[in-house]
Amino acid sequence: MLAKVAISGGGRCNVTTSRTEPRELAAFYPRGGDALRGPFSRFGPRETVEWFQSRGVRLKVEPDGRMFPTSNSSATVVQCLSDQAARAGVRVLTLANVTGVERAAAGFRVHLLSGEELPADRVLLATGGERGGFALAASLGHTIVPPAPSLFALEASDPRTAGLAGVAVTDVGVRLAGLTGPGLAQRGPMLVTHRGFSGPAILKLSAWAARPLHDCGYRAELLVNWLPALEQESLRTRLTEAKSALAAKSVAASPPPELPRRLWENLVAAAGVGPELRWADLSNRHLHELAGQLLRGSYAVTGKSTNKDEFVTCGGVSLKEVDFATMASRVCPGLFLAGEVLDIDGLTGGFNFQSAWTTGRLAGVAMASV
Ligand SMILES: Cc1cc2nc3c(=O)[nH]c(=O)nc-3n(C[C@H](O)[C@H](O)[C@H](O)COP(=O)(O)OP(=O)(O)OC[C@H]3O[C@@H](n4cnc5c(N)ncnc54)[C@H](O)[C@@H]3O)c2cc1C
Repeated sequence: MLAKVAISGGGRCNVTTSRTEPRELAAFYPRGGDALRGPFSRFGPRETVEWFQSRGVRLKVEPDGRMFPTSNSSATVVQCLSDQAARAGVRVLTLANVTGVERAAAGFRVHLLSGEELPADRVLLATGGERGGFALAASLGHTIVPPAPSLFALEASDPRTAGLAGVAVTDVGVRLAGLTGPGLAQRGPMLVTHRGFSGPAILKLSAWAARPLHDCGYRAELLVNWLPALEQESLRTRLTEAKSALAAKSVAASPPPELPRRLWENLVAAAGVGPELRWADLSNRHLHELAGQLLRGSYAVTGKSTNKDEFVTCGGVSLKEVDFATMASRVCPGLFLAGEVLDIDGLTGGFNFQSAWTTGRLAGVAMASV
């Protein structure tokens, strides 16, 4: 029970975010943000923090806005949720695989793998991003937006980053060639891994581009701007200044302060500049090639790798078929939906749990008052 909460946030559980304004929050959801704006104004991060704190879970905010229990342990959150369920008299059946939910004269019949059948006058489907849950929703009349993974690292084997696993660059710009639209150009820290690229900028890009990347089999051209704070012209000025200020030094041995030395050496080599070439001897063609490597490096993406810290499913129950005031199904009376089973997914930072808390709370309140 609560297995995902237990492993979440690297075992610390990133419960929610310090951002509270619904419109600002909505921008952290590649899918579902608009639909969540109303629900966030009724039970958003502020109410979530209040709910947990008033039940003994003290929370703290990290500098980037992520909120964790002060215990730094997801067990605190698991314990709180389990205690509250017990206090409310909830009967929990673990390892009870639901194989079907059938409409019945008065409500539903829930079928378990064991053969047991449970009668229910209302049902909340909160099965996360699992295909079995989508099948249950579809069997009750819902349209499923095809699922695809979100929040992943990119595989890209390239001589420029070979041997640099673990190297992090604090500010890069990344986009995918041929793709434009909201969220499809990202900026932030990036990490070179054994297999390609990860880190916040890549995870955000993977979330916004989850659908097109899935559709092209994760084969794409990643364009990396290693110095996004500089425009084309200011980079040219900086390189020209380096040419006179560092004239006698080798180019490869004088990295800009923003870039790790080994990465710079590789980019310089990729621009066709020999390891001993001095700044004074750098030709215009070299300058042009180097600027290209720095501002528009092209890397062939050949696949995706799992981000161990957090991953979610994009796609799920079509949002048009759900009333976001109550989370009631518009196509199957008595059915309610909450969490990742819906076509909602957020970036990392507590946004995925927040949408689960928000929609779960609204559904629970509505179901209790029917
Ligand atoms: C490794 C990892 C770390 C994460 N860390 C964070 C984090 O720190 N912060 C954050 O905001 N988000 C995090 N997430 C995302 C977050 O865990 C999910 O978005 C969230 O758990 C979704 O909640 P949910 O209740 O909709 O689904 P889930 O938490 O997936 O729960 C669904 C439940 O339904 C059960 N179920 C499914 N089908 C059936 C069936 N047929 N019969 C019976 N039971 C069924 C499942 O077993 C499960 O218990 C993380 C995800 C992962 C994978």
